[in-house]
Amino acid sequence: MGESPGQKRRLHLQPRGTGPSRGGAGADAPPWVVLVVDDDPGIHDMTELLLRDLTFQGRPFRLLGAASAAEARAVIASHPEIHVVLLDVVMETDDAGLVLVRDIRSGMGDDRLRIILRTGQPGNEPEHDIMARYDINDYRTKTELTAQRLSSVLIAALRSWSQIDTVLKASDLLEARVAERTRELEQARAFAERLVEVIPNPVWCRDDDGRYRLHNRAFRDFFAVGGSGHDDLPVDAPFVEADRRTDRLLLAGEMSRVEYEVTLAGMAPSPGGAEAMRTVMVAKGALSADDGRPSAVVGIITDISGRKAMERDLRHQADSDPLTGIANRRRFMEVAVQEMDRSVRYGRPLSVIMLDVDRFKTINDSFGHAFGDQVLRAVAEACRMELRDADHLGRLGGEEFGVLLPETGLEGALDLAARLRRAVAGIALSAAGVERGGGMPGISASLGVAARRTGETDFQHLLARADVALYRAKSLGRDRVEGD
Ligand code: GH3
Ligand code: MG
Ligand code: MG
Repeated sequence: MGESPGQKRRLHLQPRGTGPSRGGAGADAPPWVVLVVDDDPGIHDMTELLLRDLTFQGRPFRLLGAASAAEARAVIASHPEIHVVLLDVVMETDDAGLVLVRDIRSGMGDDRLRIILRTGQPGNEPEHDIMARYDINDYRTKTELTAQRLSSVLIAALRSWSQIDTVLKASDLLEARVAERTRELEQARAFAERLVEVIPNPVWCRDDDGRYRLHNRAFRDFFAVGGSGHDDLPVDAPFVEADRRTDRLLLAGEMSRVEYEVTLAGMAPSPGGAEAMRTVMVAKGALSADDGRPSAVVGIITDISGRKAMERDLRHQADSDPLTGIANRRRFMEVAVQEMDRSVRYGRPLSVIMLDVDRFKTINDSFGHAFGDQVLRAVAEACRMELRDADHLGRLGGEEFGVLLPETGLEGALDLAARLRRAVAGIALSAAGVERGGGMPGISASLGVAARRTGETDFQHLLARADVALYRAKSLGRDRVEGD
């Protein structure tokens, strides 16, 4: 033992053979690094001798040495790969080893580092609670250091090193996964928030206490509110009422989604439109908390004013006669069937008048088709002026018109027909062709009237009787009313 106790020893113990027979980890497996701290050089030599042939899990042992606690601190600081410290208790001082243990455990070494205390003086055995508190793996007197004892103590320490290592690696992995997942969620949240913000429809989310959790730019524009949360929107009562009612249903779990239309008055005019009235479709859904119970409501508004207006236009086009603007034959028959049903069901009177312009072909021939059109418009207008709101006027085709009179019996219908005849006869029109044609044409119409009879349920039948009366009026000289 020519070396001084202070000289650092780096003992490299090479395995005597390689290959699977020696443990299966191969020649490249990193050695287990053991730091021997002892002021007795003989202990270093003995330990080296004892561990020379030892392997664990196919990995050989590599020894580092330190002759004092002070030296050990330097070795530990420059060798983070140390697995086990075999530590003498009495060195520079009686408790130099225990002080070093405390330093290692308070941050000098990593948590995996295993410590085995050895002492030459059996009386210096550490207290049990020190063993536990500082996570000291084992305690042996130096006399116990036979090859077998030392290797079994070391292997036990390395097993626990491996277990701690596994746990730490798993928790590192878990932390990395959590961080990754958190990042993904954050990205998804940012994406959703951005998407909601740029959606052109007003979108919001409101908690069950009525507070807004979120609203987008379109929402703030639509309701003309600022960026901050607000409880009451400056909109009219029907909207607020429907909104609150459906929120209650959703939050009570009575339904998971609702969709309804509501017309808003007094809204800011839509861009490009002077209309202050808007029809919107509101779609809302319940948002559930972790316990599955609805805790918030998400909503989206679609302004359907344009669609509604288009629907009205289309409906009007489908129902009306383009020349006169009154109901066309299809619409007239539709209403007539409804009125007939109602009349039959409730036993109420219903009458129909058929009106046909006299010698209209001659008017067309003499004054031109455009003038004929003008006459048709004037006839429709003259009739319209005579009718009540409940009456229905329609152009049945050519120069033939129909009038439906709910709640009116034959007598009342004949009276009205007489008024209509006079109104048509009173039409005064001037046209470019009038002079050419040799004077103002006399405009007149013949009318046939029929009232629903008891037991009569088919409108076509009623209309056919009015038609028969009309032709009687024609054959009796025109410009007159006949009833059936
Ligand atoms: P009557 O007194 O017997 O009813 O004779 P009329 O000439 O009125 O009857 P007729 O059925 O012979 O002729 C109807 C004419 O109405 C024929 C047709 O060209 C014309 N007519 C049909 N629809 C229109 C229209 O939309 N505009 C114009 N200007 N003429 C039309
Ligand atoms: Mg005619
Ligand atoms: Mg005709």
